[in-house]
Amino acid sequence: MGVCKAEGIIAGGGLVGLTLALALHQIGIKVKIFETVPDIKPLGVGINLLPHSVQNLAKLGLLEELEKVAIKTSSLTYYSEDGKTIWREPRGIAAGYEVPQFSIHRGDFHMILLKAVRERLGENVIFMNHRIDHFDQDEESVTAHFTTHDGSQKQSSVTADFLIGADGINSRLRKLFYPGEGPPHYSGQMLWRGVTEMEPYLDGTSMFMAGHNDLKLVAYPIRAESMKRGKSYINWIAERRMPSDLNSRQADWNQEGVLEEFRSDFEDWNLGWLDIQKLYKNAISIHKFPMIDRNPIPQWTFGRVTLMGDAAHAMYPNGSNGVSQGVLDAMEFTRLMQEGGDILEILKAYEADRRPKTTKISLANRETGPERVMQMVKEQCPGTCGDVHTCVPREKLEEVATAYKKLAGFDKESLKKSG
Ligand SMILES: Cc1cc2nc3c(=O)[nH]c(=O)nc-3n(C[C@H](O)[C@H](O)[C@H](O)COP(=O)(O)OP(=O)(O)OC[C@H]3O[C@@H](n4cnc5c(N)ncnc54)[C@H](O)[C@@H]3O)c2cc1C
Repeated sequence: MGVCKAEGIIAGGGLVGLTLALALHQIGIKVKIFETVPDIKPLGVGINLLPHSVQNLAKLGLLEELEKVAIKTSSLTYYSEDGKTIWREPRGIAAGYEVPQFSIHRGDFHMILLKAVRERLGENVIFMNHRIDHFDQDEESVTAHFTTHDGSQKQSSVTADFLIGADGINSRLRKLFYPGEGPPHYSGQMLWRGVTEMEPYLDGTSMFMAGHNDLKLVAYPIRAESMKRGKSYINWIAERRMPSDLNSRQADWNQEGVLEEFRSDFEDWNLGWLDIQKLYKNAISIHKFPMIDRNPIPQWTFGRVTLMGDAAHAMYPNGSNGVSQGVLDAMEFTRLMQEGGDILEILKAYEADRRPKTTKISLANRETGPERVMQMVKEQCPGTCGDVHTCVPREKLEEVATAYKKLAGFDKESLKKSG
């Protein structure tokens, strides 16, 4: 049949919008990207790119750039708050995958994508200061209407064959389809996300989670450059249950966090190999962001328009899968475009593949995903375990870990099949 020759508009130049632009460009599809902010800056803190997304990013020729800046995560370990091991598993290359798992600064990843888009697609395909407002469509085309973000209220319109809403958790396009949806769904957990440069812990490339559903610490190093200097640029997340803090539910990545709001909760914690209070006190930055997601929706594709990434399926960070699932969306849509056919059918087929899969992951993450093992120990441990928890049988823990990998599509078998 040959590649579908439709031309597209991508609303949102975030991680998924830019990944999609690179993937479509690689098969010769023309796209224009419209981003609301006047200038893309390296914002945020740490994220994880799991092997299924790295395999795809490698196909886009980004592996070398990622290796230069990111940390190749060697293992993931769950601990109780007193530092006793619950479950440890190797990750990425150490686990026998052909590609690494990367822990990376979101801003570093965003800049890698932006540079690649500018180099490969050219300067004149990204339009900053363009906030999508609404669209019209008919049998022939879709026209997206934009206003400027900087207050000048200038308006412009662009017509193409298809429109992708990759405009994040507060997606305008999603709001047009679901006007009554309201704000994101709050989990009852508040997250303080920080970064601290200090001496490395464990092997300098390990990710860990400690605690349980009411109080948790997650940490992983994210910058290779820091490691080369004998230091570790550690991304950490202090998580506390705060069901009644209504004012703090606002999903604003620029909201600053204050040390005093959570530091003392961890005063009695002792992991042995990491000074938690030092980690917190020496933070370079702290952001306060609630753990939120969106309810799964019954339809993503409406004629020539569809949703992608967080706009389609914003999920809790449990399982570290958010951005990886967005990369998979972009690659599946691109695969279907390459197969060819009618654009309306391709947009429907994209949803048919990706919506059920991501719905299952979003719902599993609401049950804390693979992190469930920590709460199992909290509830079942009689307090007599040694350095390693034996209170929950190993097979049960392994069952949780394996089931989540399969569900999210990063078990080794699934990866081999998708090649
Ligand atoms: C500033 C910022 C910081 C973040 N920091 C972290 C972090 O530290 N850790 C983490 O796990 N996740 C973070 N995220 C979320 C993370 O990037 C997403 O969960 C995930 O990567 C999915 O990517 P996405 O492209 O779907 O969404 P995003 O990466 O959120 O990208 C959406 C893009 O759409 C743009 N946009 C929004 N509305 C419009 C509109 N009307 N018209 C045009 N463009 C629009 C936004 O400016 C943004 O660039 C952050 C997101 C943002 C925007």
